[in-house]
Amino acid sequence: MPSDVESIQAKLDAFLRIAKNNEQKHVNFQEYELGLLNCSGVFELFSLILEQHRDRFQLSEVTLLLFDPEYEFQRLLDLHEKPSSWRNRLLFTDKEHALIDTYHIFPKPKLSVFSTSIHQVLFPDHNELKSVAILPLKRQNKLIGSLNLGSRKADRFQPNIGTLFLEHLTAVISACIENACLQERIEQLGLIDPLTGLNNRRFFDQRISEEFTLAQRNNAQLSCLFIDLDHFKQVNDTHGHHAGDLVLKQAARIFSDSMRTSDVLARYGGEEFVIILADTTSDIAYEIAERIRLSIANTDFDIDKSAPLKVTLSIGLATMDNSTHITTTSQLLESADQAVYAAKNAGRNCVHRSH
Ligand code: GH3
Ligand code: MG
Ligand code: MG
Repeated sequence: MPSDVESIQAKLDAFLRIAKNNEQKHVNFQEYELGLLNCSGVFELFSLILEQHRDRFQLSEVTLLLFDPEYEFQRLLDLHEKPSSWRNRLLFTDKEHALIDTYHIFPKPKLSVFSTSIHQVLFPDHNELKSVAILPLKRQNKLIGSLNLGSRKADRFQPNIGTLFLEHLTAVISACIENACLQERIEQLGLIDPLTGLNNRRFFDQRISEEFTLAQRNNAQLSCLFIDLDHFKQVNDTHGHHAGDLVLKQAARIFSDSMRTSDVLARYGGEEFVIILADTTSDIAYEIAERIRLSIANTDFDIDKSAPLKVTLSIGLATMDNSTHITTTSQLLESADQAVYAAKNAGRNCVHRSH
């Protein structure tokens, strides 16, 4: 009799242990899920997945594969320094068929023994795994990649194990990826001009203060070019607003191509652009301005009509250095603006320096 009681007691203890263990798992998952949902950007989200998931769920490896044909994720991540531990764990493909052909991703979670020939591409640094779970990530019901879990335990992922929990997890992660992308895009829209893809005035106003402070601290010279397209109203009036937009886009590309990496270019408003040239004397800035003026004047603008269009611009240049009385960003901008005005009065298609 006592041995029966002991055995029942032992079974009860075992159940309690399992229940406690399950509760712990549940809390652990809820904490993780909350972290995922609170991520405000792609970098933060991927950090959580690549740096926490493995240890939280006692796995040997976690990798993430993403279909990224427009380099959307890669561009967003370029804004950050990626930890070296992400190498070979954050994978990208730009070919949709590679998801199936190369990576063997299926629309449903696939739990199986680890096979070098099939799974090595998803776990490039690991060939000592014993079992894996390949979980499809979806965006609007379309495959966008996979979350890949690897374990050194052969019984961790087996085909007969229920995948409800893993399906829930991947649905959450898929939604978070979508969400993080949208959020970043909205933030970018706030600082980027949608027509030309250049930085907008909001971005510029932030950056010019930074550049100005830096130049003052280093006792360096800072030049500012204010660019205004000539008779642009006429372009619109003669060829239509759409043609005007095309000219703005092409001009923006020419400005971009004339820039050094340390320069800051922005669309300041309508047909007005501004360039901040760090550590640049007035003479060098004048040469750069002349080069830009000539590139535009020599360009045949393609506005979808048979005859290409000729456009010119006027540039005002102001420099903060020991010889000027410019001590604030607004004085620098005002001086450059007045110089454009003088360039217009001087007949347009020219560069004028503020004195
Ligand atoms: P000026 O040589 O004196 O600078 O003459 P302007 O005609 O360029 O100057 P004005 O400031 O009178 O006109 C600017 C024009 O730029 C008017 C406006 O319709 C046009 N514009 C501003 N933003 C856009 C835009 O996003 N697209 C197009 N197509 N036109 C724009
Ligand atoms: Mg103007
Ligand atoms: Mg103009």
